[in-house]
Amino acid sequence: MSKGTVSINAENIMPVIKQWLYSDKDIFVREMISNACDAIKKLRWLASTGQATLDDAPDRIDVVVDKEAGTLTFIDNGIGMTEDEVVKYIAQVAFSGATDFITKYTKEDDKGEGASIIGHFGLGFYSAFMVSDKVVIDSKSYTDAPAVRWTSEDGMEYEIEPSDRTERGTAITLYIDEADKDFLNKWTVRSTLQKYCAFMPVPIFLSEVEKPEEPKEGEEPKKPAKPEQINDTEPLWMKRPADCTDEEYKAFYHKVFNDFEDPLFWIHLNAEYPFNLKGILFFPKIKNEFTASEGVIKLYNNQVFVADNIKEVIPEFLMLLKGVIDCPDLPLNVSRSFLQNDGYVKKMAAYITRKVADRLVSEFNTKREDYQKYWDDIHMFVKYGCIRDQKFYDRVKPALIYKTTAGEYVTLEEYISRNCPDDENKTVYYASDDKRQAQMIKLYTDQDKDVVLLNTLIDDDFVSHLEFTDHDSKVSFKRVDADTESLTENGETDETTRLKLEGLFRKAMGDDTVDVQLKPFKDESMISMITVDEQSRRFTEMSSRWGRGGMSLPEKRTLVLNEKHPLVKWLGAAEESDDTEAICAQVADLAEMARQPLVADRMVEFLRRSNALLTQLVKN
Ligand code: ADP
Repeated sequence: MSKGTVSINAENIMPVIKQWLYSDKDIFVREMISNACDAIKKLRWLASTGQATLDDAPDRIDVVVDKEAGTLTFIDNGIGMTEDEVVKYIAQVAFSGATDFITKYTKEDDKGEGASIIGHFGLGFYSAFMVSDKVVIDSKSYTDAPAVRWTSEDGMEYEIEPSDRTERGTAITLYIDEADKDFLNKWTVRSTLQKYCAFMPVPIFLSEVEKPEEPKEGEEPKKPAKPEQINDTEPLWMKRPADCTDEEYKAFYHKVFNDFEDPLFWIHLNAEYPFNLKGILFFPKIKNEFTASEGVIKLYNNQVFVADNIKEVIPEFLMLLKGVIDCPDLPLNVSRSFLQNDGYVKKMAAYITRKVADRLVSEFNTKREDYQKYWDDIHMFVKYGCIRDQKFYDRVKPALIYKTTAGEYVTLEEYISRNCPDDENKTVYYASDDKRQAQMIKLYTDQDKDVVLLNTLIDDDFVSHLEFTDHDSKVSFKRVDADTESLTENGETDETTRLKLEGLFRKAMGDDTVDVQLKPFKDESMISMITVDEQSRRFTEMSSRWGRGGMSLPEKRTLVLNEKHPLVKWLGAAEESDDTEAICAQVADLAEMARQPLVADRMVEFLRRSNALLTQLVKN
């Protein structure tokens, strides 16, 4: 037996690693399995180049839990190591970057980065000491060299002796420490394996050493449980899109994202140039606005799970989707700050964005009916993407559609050519609530004008963004109660009458600032309408949404009276009487009710006044 000390000049590395890894302790499982996988791949490579001969044994990794012995063992039938190699790879190479590691990172107090730094410096194997009192490596090289055993209790000092291992490959036995006994629980090990290794390319089997029970008289002795395979070695994203069926995509989605609903559609990314990147992005069915943020994008490196939702790699707005992305060129263990500043990562994110936009456009172009069917489910994601990412907007623009209150879907161009082809300013009228604004909507639809529905929280920001970025197209969005431009005719207004009516209404409404206009309405039966300036309303709504209600300006309201209406004519001409004020107040309330419900006090007053007016009819 020989003894040695891991060559490292900073003795306190273990406490440092331990402290860092605390938040992500289970990562040691991934490190053990990745090494095992690499060892198997190396052997395969040697065999393919004629440097090693393979026996018939299929590649496999076994994870064995032994509660009684207190051990968790990772066994592979890969390349194995000779004594020299163990000393070289495990004891020295692993820590070659250790001095750097200590000096560079001990100052950082961000624990979250610890796990990734460990691997970055080739310390993967040492993560075993996070959970172990002792680690034993038994390895037999694919060469004729005798099997070797390496034992260490602290990761610093080790012993080397001959091993009784007879098969090629490596078994790494972790004597799990008291604090981490949970890793002797098969369920914990299984879920950790499922988290990190569900799609590793080599079959991984989990089993537990069971104490054989004494068979009761007359009973057959119990057979030990068969090792259970944990992973799918050929995940769908690694296949060629042409070889995958819809059923396979759906089944994959259900399994990986635990969502029993079918996805709406998916994008299979399969690029070799300029990026080596594979993956599948699913558009989930969004049940309501509030579940929209529940997406998850899993990042893999050569089928090894790295992390969920790494926003540095995946554009933020794509986080509303569910999917897997496998990028072998990204280092498996890198710190987030590295990813943030990496040009390659940025290009990759841009590539993914482009693919998603292109797919939406092609869905729209080739399967417009289907696309319209799921527009209600995807529109929030698309709009959010447009706001967040100008390039995405530029590309996806042709596939942006709007649902009309009649249930049709139109593009902006279609809307314009149908409703305002010759106008210099293109106005798109919209409703934010088709029930409350039904009366206003009808004013437009009666004139064969389309009204689109923009009824989600994101819509205000979306249309503002559109108007701003596409300034030159002169398209603007106006809510049905924003003005009366397309509801009235041109005509000269008698300013004296207007002023008189303004005085009457301001008094009746108790509002000195409301503008009163007099216009001929196309619909002769209308008495009046209240409009609220689009920009001032949007500003107020956005301020209150961002919790800055105090900052908002009052909305700019206008009462527009139909000068052709007999009642308005009468009010303009008549002497002011006791009834005038009540009539004006009633007209103003009715106009308000057409756009939104009255506030409680005003409703009470409206009902009281309505009763009085009715009673008066009978008296007269
Ligand atoms: P890395 O994998 O990043 O090189 P590790 O600390 O995880 O760093 O492993 C150090 C080295 O030890 C590996 O590069 C490999 O040569 C060797 N090694 C670790 N585990 C195994 C194994 N199961 N079989 C063969 N060699 C291994």
